[in-house]
Amino acid sequence: MRIVLMGPPGAGKGTQAELLTSELNIPHISTGDMFRKALREGTPLGMEAKEYMDKGQLVPDHVTVGIVKERLAQDDCQQGFLLDGFPRTVAQADALEQTLKELGVKLDYVINIVVKREDLLERLTGRRVCKACGATYHIKYNPSEKGDRCQNCGGELYQRSDDTEATVANRLDVYGQQTAPLIAYYQKKDILLDVDGNNAVQEVTKNILQLLRKEQI
Ligand code: ADP
Ligand code: AMP
Repeated sequence: MRIVLMGPPGAGKGTQAELLTSELNIPHISTGDMFRKALREGTPLGMEAKEYMDKGQLVPDHVTVGIVKERLAQDDCQQGFLLDGFPRTVAQADALEQTLKELGVKLDYVINIVVKREDLLERLTGRRVCKACGATYHIKYNPSEKGDRCQNCGGELYQRSDDTEATVANRLDVYGQQTAPLIAYYQKKDILLDVDGNNAVQEVTKNILQLLRKEQI
């Protein structure tokens, strides 16, 4: 299955992607994770992305499209993939369509996780991520059983530098201006599935899997 997970920052894309990809047995491709990894490794890509990420702005399309194109051409994506945080602009969506066309495949579904804007700030400022395995927690809604250590691997939990109140506000504005138009874009293609992301994590996963199964019948 070839899926895109959409939704504003904090909607729960990364959280759901972890659960869905293990259930569906497809790779999880997060452009945000790819940029953060490049930054940790100190590559030129990481340095360039940092400038934009720190301000809550989007990394330019040509850079982002380039890394996704390369990733989708790899062997593990041949049977499907789940894209998380890409596309984020109409230009990226057009480029994705073109890339998939060249690979002779099509996108099956775009899952749009819908969450009230007033909840997103609290979700993002309370988010904690494992330095070692990337697992996502929330200090109130999804705390690690091991406190400030990851319950999966014991790694140290940290707060992303772009999860501060000021940067989050900007990221939400950028989402509204540049990414939200993709909802209509994919509605027109008749592949958009809305999911209520205000429910508990496991409930959201269950609803997404149900929707996908229903669509496959
Ligand atoms: P995104 O990848 O869309 O930016 P995340 O998956 O990182 O969002 O989730 C943002 C924060 O909200 C995290 O701290 C996560 O633990 C928490 N979260 C995710 N899903 C839910 C949910 N259904 N209810 C409450 N909190 C959630
Ligand atoms: P995320 O981990 O999805 O919250 O993304 C973190 C940051 O990485 C964003 O605020 C952007 O600066 C950058 N980023 C991630 N994905 C994209 C994308 N598809 N297009 C442009 N910038 C992106």
